[in-house]
Amino acid sequence: MSEPAYFDNNATTALAPEVLEAMMPYLSTLYANPSSASRLGAQVKDAVSEARASVAGLLGCRTSELVFTSGATESNHMAILGALALAPEKRHLITSNVEHPSIMLLCRDLELTGIEVTYLPVDTDGRIDLGQLTESIRPDTALISLMWANNETGVLFPIEEAAAIAKFRRVLFHTDATQAVGKVRLNMLESAVDLLSCSGHKLHGPKGIGALILRKGVALPPLIYGHQERGRRGGTENVPAIIGFGAAARLFGDLDAQIAYLNGLRNQLEQGVLALVPEAIVHGLAAERLPNTSNIAFNMIESEELLHRLEQQGITAATGAACAAGGSRPSHVLSAMSLRREAIVSSLRFSLSRYNRREEVAQLLVVLQGLIQAGKASTTTDSALVSCAH
Ligand code: PMP
Repeated sequence: MSEPAYFDNNATTALAPEVLEAMMPYLSTLYANPSSASRLGAQVKDAVSEARASVAGLLGCRTSELVFTSGATESNHMAILGALALAPEKRHLITSNVEHPSIMLLCRDLELTGIEVTYLPVDTDGRIDLGQLTESIRPDTALISLMWANNETGVLFPIEEAAAIAKFRRVLFHTDATQAVGKVRLNMLESAVDLLSCSGHKLHGPKGIGALILRKGVALPPLIYGHQERGRRGGTENVPAIIGFGAAARLFGDLDAQIAYLNGLRNQLEQGVLALVPEAIVHGLAAERLPNTSNIAFNMIESEELLHRLEQQGITAATGAACAAGGSRPSHVLSAMSLRREAIVSSLRFSLSRYNRREEVAQLLVVLQGLIQAGKASTTTDSALVSCAH
């Protein structure tokens, strides 16, 4: 069996050693409450401020615009529920058909309470139509919420253009940028985005920490009451996680180099797979995509089967593409792209990080080649590579 290789970084990333090191004191001796008037409390408060400045630096926003939350799921809820609470007479939301469940499920539930939601469709490459967005805006639209980068396909939405349309029509604009942060250059100060969600554990920080950026002047009511975060998010700060988030943000100082590195790895992976499996299809190929994500329909083996065989060889990928994790329903993202069922149920997602190496991608290709040869050699009753007839 080969060395383990982890290609599931859109699900979560490894904690960076620098991040762990930065967090350690706050898990042991520096345990004071940052709201406490004690000397130790002040020291912790300063460290939280420093972390806030680091995350704000990565996002190009003011520190006063950043609210720490428990993760992007909470940030998304705060943005949507906050926008609706801000203007109770506005009962319409616009989002897309391919959002993360933290947006989709909330919107579906809001519909039961009488909120109307327009779900923008996507084309076969996962792209929205900005003309359709413009046409969907109504006088009672409370918020437009569109993800920056899709977690399953890596397809990027034209967020700056969409936010400019929203600004022109005086509608609040939120983006779930969870997968974009650290992989796309963002600058809140130069953008028309009003609200942005992100998460620590997608960029080598700890789990259970995220942020909502609220552009200056956008005063949403809190989801969780309390005096912390200037009254915008109550609850004693998750200090070790905040410190870790800050340290993680500082890993992305050379963002352009990291984007170029990931692009190179992803191209190696895609070119290699397409050479081995000519019937494979890379989803979203015609769209702008994240540099780290490749979602591929193999078309000649079911994704669950391939995932299992790769796992046996120490390679971790995801069927996030094919089935909702743990469930057997086909991906709502690939379904929304109107792909053939055969393509949907044979898709695997490979998502890379700064810690992946060219040798690991080469190893994946060797393993795939072995599986293909084994499939060709085996009988039809015990085939590694079966056609997706169902
Ligand atoms: N949005 C997107 C696009 C995501 O990929 C994720 C994580 N899978 C989330 C939101 C939720 O993030 P968190 O785990 O921080 O709640």
